[in-house]
Amino acid sequence: ATFGNLSDRLADTFKNLRTKGKLSASDVDGTVREIRRALLDADVALDVVKEFTGHVRERALGDEVNKALNPAQQVVQIVNEELIAILGGQQRRLEFAKKPPTIIMLAGLQGAGKTTLAGKLSKWLAKDGHTPLLVAADLQRPNAVTQLGVVAEQAGVAIFAPEPGNGVGDPVQVARDSIKYAGVKQHDVVIVDTAGRLGVDAEMMAQAAKIRQAINPDEVLFVIDAMIGQDAVNTAKAFQEGVDFTGVVLTKLDGDARGGAALSVASITGRPIIFASTGEGLDDFEAFHPDRMASRILDLGDILTLIEQAQQNFDEEEARQVAEKFATDTFTLDDFLKQMQQLRNMGSLKKMMGMLPGMGQMKEQLDNFDEREIVRTEAIIQSMTRAERVTPKSLNGSRRLRIAKGSGTTVTEVNSLVNRFEQAAKMMKTVAKGGMPQIPGMGPV
Ligand code: GDP
Repeated sequence: ATFGNLSDRLADTFKNLRTKGKLSASDVDGTVREIRRALLDADVALDVVKEFTGHVRERALGDEVNKALNPAQQVVQIVNEELIAILGGQQRRLEFAKKPPTIIMLAGLQGAGKTTLAGKLSKWLAKDGHTPLLVAADLQRPNAVTQLGVVAEQAGVAIFAPEPGNGVGDPVQVARDSIKYAGVKQHDVVIVDTAGRLGVDAEMMAQAAKIRQAINPDEVLFVIDAMIGQDAVNTAKAFQEGVDFTGVVLTKLDGDARGGAALSVASITGRPIIFASTGEGLDDFEAFHPDRMASRILDLGDILTLIEQAQQNFDEEEARQVAEKFATDTFTLDDFLKQMQQLRNMGSLKKMMGMLPGMGQMKEQLDNFDEREIVRTEAIIQSMTRAERVTPKSLNGSRRLRIAKGSGTTVTEVNSLVNRFEQAAKMMKTVAKGGMPQIPGMGPV
């Protein structure tokens, strides 16, 4: 897939981070260096890489990470946010004219996927109740009008084109006429396909600019092939200077390209990516969501949602106190109970665990995990005296029997809880000394 390699590289970077507790400045620098290399190898434009890594570094060294319960996850979240930012931030929808028809002009190099896009976009719009008209203003390529005709038929939409055999017409005039025609025939959207060349070319640019002037489109979409790598920057800049555009469409995201164009173009041009094309079929097309694309690149499942939930539910200061208790062996069954109650506040534990990446193998364990066990655990701890909760070592046989009776459980269950508590305390003690942070109170799940 387009971002396969980049995803793997970033995942490796984060994996190294995850084994660490607090992050030193050199940890951050090392991570930023790896991210930088991964992005450059994915053909992301140097200026974009610099800006991106600059932001990540600054934030990773800042307070939000330093004070975080889990600095590594915080870094992942920062990378995610910065990725969303370079992809344009908020989703930008197609804008429609207040008074129809809405005029959409397509521009881009030959082979970028403009004609295919015209079909995809018109089908997508038709599904939404619009009545699009496809306009063949590409009169340079002999086959272009025919190709647009085929696409229009597949999409089930109307086409406006000069009669074949009429020689080379004037694309500006064709575009102008098509708008009048749309008014008469009540097409509420007009999609104008323009000519492209294999390379950026002054004549083509001048023609596109003239068409733009003549029809004053509501949207000019610059169509760019995600596979063109480093050339993306120059091509995008040339089109911005020559015609300018209101939005970008990325095509061929299904390919094996390294994806740098996709990651550079919004940032380089300051224009939003509105659609993504992901195949040759007319349905291989979607509205572009910067946040979804970032998640896809980071390939971390819903880990960020999980982090957010954890952050909302755990008071960080309290978490630090708990860590302190673990480190000094003063963590009690009362604390254990409190942790567990917080966990219950996080909603279904299973659902939460399911959001973690790589949970495939743990599925069985998850299925065996019984949330009612938390309720039983609560009952057991509540049947203990204060002194017993603070010093679980004092729990001899007769006390355990009393507690089992008081909580409506069995001695085996009481034993199991005490064992789990001791295991958790031991594990958390390691963590508090710099091992990998875990969600406290989770026990041996
Ligand atoms: P135009 O010259 O800009 O009009 O480009 P075309 O629409 O003719 O597309 C050029 C080639 O790319 C055609 O073979 C299309 O089938 C193919 N193509 C267009 N979009 C995509 C896409 O998203 N994925 C893939 N794999 N191929 C595409």
